[in-house]
Amino acid sequence: MAEVHGFERSRVQDIPEIKTRAELYRHIKTGAELLSLTNDDENKVFGISFRTPPSDSTGLPHILEHSVLCGSRKYPAKEPFVELLKSSVQTFLNAMTYPDKTCYPVASQNIQDLYNLIDVYMDAVFYPRITPFIFQQEGWHLEPDDAGNRLTYKGVVFSEMKGVYSSPDSLIAEYSRRAVFPANTYGLDAGGDPRQIPTLTYEQFREFHRKYYHPSNARIFFYGDDDPQRRLSFVDSYLRDFERIEPESNITLQPLFDKPVRLVRKFAAGDERQGQKGMVTLNWLLGDTTDTQMNLSLHMLEYILLGMPGSPLRKALIDSKYGEDLAGQGLDAEIRQMYFSTGLKGIDPENADRIGELIFGTLGGLAKDGIDPLTIEAAVNSIEFALRENNTGSYPRGLGLMLRALTTWLYEGDPLALIAFEEPLERVKGVIAREKRFFEGLIERFLLQNPHRALVLLKPDLETAKEEEEAERARLKAVRESMTPSQLEEVGANAARLKEMQERPDPPEMLASIPSLKITDLDRYNKCIPVSFLREGEAEILYHDLFTSGIVYLDLGFNLRVLPQELLPYVPLFGRALLEMGTEEEDYVALTQRISRKTGGISPNIFSSAAKGADKSAAWLFLRAKSMLNQSEELLSILRDVLLKVRLDNRERFRQMVLEAKARMEQKLIPSGHQIVNMRLRSQFDESGWVAEQMKGVSQLFFLRDLAGRIDSGWPGVLADLERLRSLLLSGRNVLANVTLDEEGWRILEPDIRRFLGDLPASPVIVEQWSLERDAPFEGLTIPAHVNYVGKGVDLYGRGYRYHGSARVVTRYVRNAWLWDRVRVQGGAYGAFCMFDRLSGILTFVSYRDPNLERTLEVFDRTADFLENLEIREEELTKAVIGAIGDIDQYQLPDAKGYTSMAYHLSGETDQERQVMREQVFGTGLEDFRTFGRYLRQARDGGIVKILGSSKGIDEYASTRTGEMQVVKLL
Ligand SMILES: [Zn+2]
Repeated sequence: MAEVHGFERSRVQDIPEIKTRAELYRHIKTGAELLSLTNDDENKVFGISFRTPPSDSTGLPHILEHSVLCGSRKYPAKEPFVELLKSSVQTFLNAMTYPDKTCYPVASQNIQDLYNLIDVYMDAVFYPRITPFIFQQEGWHLEPDDAGNRLTYKGVVFSEMKGVYSSPDSLIAEYSRRAVFPANTYGLDAGGDPRQIPTLTYEQFREFHRKYYHPSNARIFFYGDDDPQRRLSFVDSYLRDFERIEPESNITLQPLFDKPVRLVRKFAAGDERQGQKGMVTLNWLLGDTTDTQMNLSLHMLEYILLGMPGSPLRKALIDSKYGEDLAGQGLDAEIRQMYFSTGLKGIDPENADRIGELIFGTLGGLAKDGIDPLTIEAAVNSIEFALRENNTGSYPRGLGLMLRALTTWLYEGDPLALIAFEEPLERVKGVIAREKRFFEGLIERFLLQNPHRALVLLKPDLETAKEEEEAERARLKAVRESMTPSQLEEVGANAARLKEMQERPDPPEMLASIPSLKITDLDRYNKCIPVSFLREGEAEILYHDLFTSGIVYLDLGFNLRVLPQELLPYVPLFGRALLEMGTEEEDYVALTQRISRKTGGISPNIFSSAAKGADKSAAWLFLRAKSMLNQSEELLSILRDVLLKVRLDNRERFRQMVLEAKARMEQKLIPSGHQIVNMRLRSQFDESGWVAEQMKGVSQLFFLRDLAGRIDSGWPGVLADLERLRSLLLSGRNVLANVTLDEEGWRILEPDIRRFLGDLPASPVIVEQWSLERDAPFEGLTIPAHVNYVGKGVDLYGRGYRYHGSARVVTRYVRNAWLWDRVRVQGGAYGAFCMFDRLSGILTFVSYRDPNLERTLEVFDRTADFLENLEIREEELTKAVIGAIGDIDQYQLPDAKGYTSMAYHLSGETDQERQVMREQVFGTGLEDFRTFGRYLRQARDGGIVKILGSSKGIDEYASTRTGEMQVVKLL
């Protein structure tokens, strides 16, 4: 076999369904495998992944994932990763730890940038510095308080995982997987259990790197329109310095249970009212992930059982009234053995076994009586549509393919097995057509007759939060007491050295060695998205001529300005109600089935933004719909039905949706606390922020809780509100259609769209006035968590600041150079953001999974000083400009482009203004940082503070600020 740059090619295959040529190589000297996908996608992707099965729950793979990005042989700066974040035009730059693998992917549209990123990543994974200090910073270390009386644990992963373990949804997922795999690596937590993290030693950490971060244990991936030969020669330049080893990273199979198991665990609940609510899942071990046909079939079965609001298992669970929303993540096909997990949350724990029986009974009924053929058709169409569309949202398509390849490749299977989907898909469709009871047979075999299953009950407990805190304090006390005075002194000295090291800036020449683009590598002009503005009567049509592989993307919007403000909180539910309540002719089961059978999906979406040159903000409800062009008639007919014939009077169904929405909001509080805080901050300044918070923030949660009661006590009033909302909103004079499709398709579709818009009722529209309601300017929102989300917001336009494109460079620099160091590296938080809305002039700071409160607020307040006193070298400034241009040029798939162009239109921004902004970014100088700092300092004292976090910390803090801070209990 011919050798190419140290590799031999074992396979080559064209994959027409993704217009790609795939080549599989093996590195001759080390045995490293490389999958090279070549096509015309300019959003190029590289990734290197290692099999890293953990042997305990100390979070070793996760801490190592963080640490290798903190300096390496060629790039010894403190954090080359952050330098890349500052200066690259990357479209993806991150690293991820999974239960059995660690992945280091990067993506860029610029070839030079891509190879810069690859070089830093290759050096990082094979030659990291990983000193004891880095281990302590990213993993854990002890820190004495100022008086030296008490010790605490600090560390980035430690804080991150405390956040994870504060979320009952994360806990049930974690415990469910462990319950199915008690005997192999999947019974452990690769992310790290905060109680276990402090038992990890530096020696174990180093050894793990030596053992697993080796070419012989690596799977390397390339994707895109770059030169496939260069990929090989570049990778070989790293690999050829290694000798082959036998990596002992095989994942053993979990032996099968001979009888089911039942497990009970506790989580920290906040108060008595929420204290009633538990979660339960039923979990089954299924077949091997590498069995392609079974893998695809089980994905379809999952969709049949749970994928639609009217899916039989979902419906039985929700109709039972035992709980508020589903628990469990459905099918997991990302690890060596697939498993299936489903259940309910918001339950009375007493009902756990009854819920288990209900699941079994429902599955038994389906196996016996058969599955509705229309449900099967819906599942097959939806899975097939998703495979063909390959819409990975804001992630690069190549990254999605890399992760899909790894689900088989990691276990010595064929990496293309699921990427080349046409053949297995046809095979499965053939089997479905031939075998009359195919899915019923799967239910029988994998679920009903399968003794390898576990029922996991997660019970709320009011004492757990306190017990966990006390246990940690007792552990730390014991540690402290076991120490001699000199050992204790050493802990203090060590923490001081760590702090000193973190604060010492990297020498300029060290930073300069990290490869970066030049300004001249960048395009001077924004890429404009094509748009035509059309009309049909009073309806507005925006059309974008873009290639979409034969898919119609239609965003159908209704202007919310016609609603009185008391109806605004209903809007998210109303959007769902249109699609999930049924019509005069179809109940919701048949309607949602039809959506899945005939389209690629329809989902509600809310848009709100300040609008340039207008006294009112823009606020819209959209139905975002997609289908193949040949399904578009069906798509429009469904939309016509839901808009003209929706039935809103099904109280039981509406109650289910309200409870689901409430449970989902409550679940979001912990993982998305930074967004909740950001929204709450912005709601205090301008109308668009206030509208968003009414519909998506804490106010929405309060509204949902109240509404759940009103459905019982005053349903006629609720129904009247919904009907009023419908008659005000759904008018042909109040509508906008945003279509993304190529020209040939548009010629076919345009008359249909015009007819469709013309058929909507032409009821008159009147624009309403809204008046903002403000909450306390200093507010603490408490949840039973061990971490905080700390936010501060200021109004810069209110202080006379006029927008300038340099604000993009400045705020980005603040995030990456100031907040990263102070709040994350030194403060031990998982992250911190600084966001400036150029339309409203509101600047917000928010920290993420933060152990601190006051200290973080101080950092936010000192940002102005940081900027005003900043000295910045030319190269640093250039890097900051490049990074900001990278943000502007983010890669988007065609549906996202069409939506973005529409958003510009609704907020009144022109291409010309955006080009001016780009030029201002290029022209940013040191003076712009200082000017920004000056306005920030003026605005600082009029700023407002919102904190979401542990009640203990917030109550303590509030007691030091008597009378100033309003504390609100959320959970
Ligand atoms: Zn992490």
